[in-house]
Amino acid sequence: MAGIEGGCRCGAVRWRLEAERLPLTYACHCLDCQTWTGSAFSQQAIVAQDRFQCTAPVGRFDLPSADGRRISHQVACPACFTRVYNTNSSRPGLVMIRAGTFDDSHRLAVVAHMWTKRKQPWLTIDPQVPAWPEGPPQAAEFFRLIGAPPVAS
Ligand SMILES: [Zn+2]
Ligand SMILES: [Zn+2]
Repeated sequence: MAGIEGGCRCGAVRWRLEAERLPLTYACHCLDCQTWTGSAFSQQAIVAQDRFQCTAPVGRFDLPSADGRRISHQVACPACFTRVYNTNSSRPGLVMIRAGTFDDSHRLAVVAHMWTKRKQPWLTIDPQVPAWPEGPPQAAEFFRLIGAPPVAS
């Protein structure tokens, strides 16, 4: 099967995704994502964990949600601190890959925007692309839209 690859800024961490074509991505414009990325928004793809392999020891930071019901496991390069991907205890079997770590990140399509009420004012979103002022109201519909793999729940 064809592979898609990516990695961190310094090259210490490389990952590989078994897939025939690039996954779709979405952008989150929330303030947490802005602060965390040090940029205007985050962009990520959601893929099946069993198709994803990371080829180096990584650093991990476990972040509980505000209500304490979910834990987001953030994975970063221990050398250059690039955030590479995360998993979430509420979505077992899925990996959220940071779009900027794809070798072919310039070919990724953004098919949805969330938390647009926090987006930077200079940024214009294509009116054809689904967008929500906060999180998407229907998680299942959102997952279908971005092509996330089905998971047993
Ligand atoms: Zn690195
Ligand atoms: Zn966000």
